[in-house]
Amino acid sequence: MSSAVRDTVPFLDLGPTTQAVAPVVVDGWNETLTASAFIGGPAVSEFEDAFARFCSTSQAVGTANGTDALHLTLRALGIGGGDEVLVPTNTFVATAEAVLLAGGSPRFVDVDPTTLLLTPDTVEAAVTPRTRALVVVHLYGQMPDMTALVDVADRHGLLLVEDAAQAHGAAWQGRPAGSFGAAGCFSFYPGKNLGAFGDAGAVVTSDPHLADTVRSLRDHGRAAGSHHDHERVGTNSRLDALQARVLTAKLPLLPAWNAERRAVAAAYRGLLDPERATMVAELPGSHGVYHLVVIRVSDRDLVRRQLADRGIGTGVHYPTPCHRLAPYASLTSVRLEVAEAAAGEILSLPVYPGMGDGVVDRVAAEVNRVVARRAIA
Ligand SMILES: *Cc1c(COP(=O)(O)O)cnc(C)c1O
Repeated sequence: MSSAVRDTVPFLDLGPTTQAVAPVVVDGWNETLTASAFIGGPAVSEFEDAFARFCSTSQAVGTANGTDALHLTLRALGIGGGDEVLVPTNTFVATAEAVLLAGGSPRFVDVDPTTLLLTPDTVEAAVTPRTRALVVVHLYGQMPDMTALVDVADRHGLLLVEDAAQAHGAAWQGRPAGSFGAAGCFSFYPGKNLGAFGDAGAVVTSDPHLADTVRSLRDHGRAAGSHHDHERVGTNSRLDALQARVLTAKLPLLPAWNAERRAVAAAYRGLLDPERATMVAELPGSHGVYHLVVIRVSDRDLVRRQLADRGIGTGVHYPTPCHRLAPYASLTSVRLEVAEAAAGEILSLPVYPGMGDGVVDRVAAEVNRVVARRAIA
């Protein structure tokens, strides 16, 4: 088969979204430089207020990154002393890491084979008398059945925390990600749907006491309004003003960017071979924001190499379920079969705002060609 040399398609290109806000960010940064107010101050609270409104919560607390958003939330909720916290094994490692950082013990839970997310049944099967909390992860920007998961958490008296690090603007039956649990935790790592120009994160909640505790924990355990009264052991995990300026500039554009991601996903869904390049499912009640478009293929690593040879960048999220990673392996004795089987088959395709229809068509055509060849071989 001969093919003309064509442009490569990167897995992710931050250029279009960066350029869209660059002039506004430069103006904002100039204001910050003039004021020399780099930590806290009005730029941070302006973003926190806007982001709380966006998530339909009363409070948002900026943090240094998403991992701290999770870890400080769990600490503020009183998790510690080895308390058991349920987490899906199919997630970015930070979800589990945050539980250990807070002093808890992660108990890994299997996922649904079509969505690769938690379900009420997988959670219910994992609850023990020692379980105190449940972290639901809106992986890939998709929402699981939050109505049912809230119900399971309530029935077992579990604190519910949402890891919404990949799900800014996602919703379940019209209600935003981050507004279901005691708190929702977000990352603004540059590649996330809402990304800073560096590391940043936030906790959203409608519980003012919880918000105040996270505010204190992120700032060396300071008592509210005090500089020298440290009433608890905290850490340094503040959102800085330069990043807050970036996030404030980007937030109004996020709904359109998410709509583009949904359109890209819909195009893939229409174009990809549903048997040999099966897209991970979106539940009917989910308004997913497609942080990632994930398909399942056999011979994944070979498919990935062949796509790379054709100039198509891809990713794998994530190649090893958390319970199989060395630092966590001793915590789990059972097999979590759905996640283990999926880990060898999942492949993330290019998706980002500004990608363009022609690029989606080309990626889908190359994927179909590669998986068809595998089927014949
Ligand atoms: C990115 C991410 C985190 C961690 O966020 P950081 O800002 O990188 O610390 C946590 N959970 C999930 C699911 C993520 O994708």
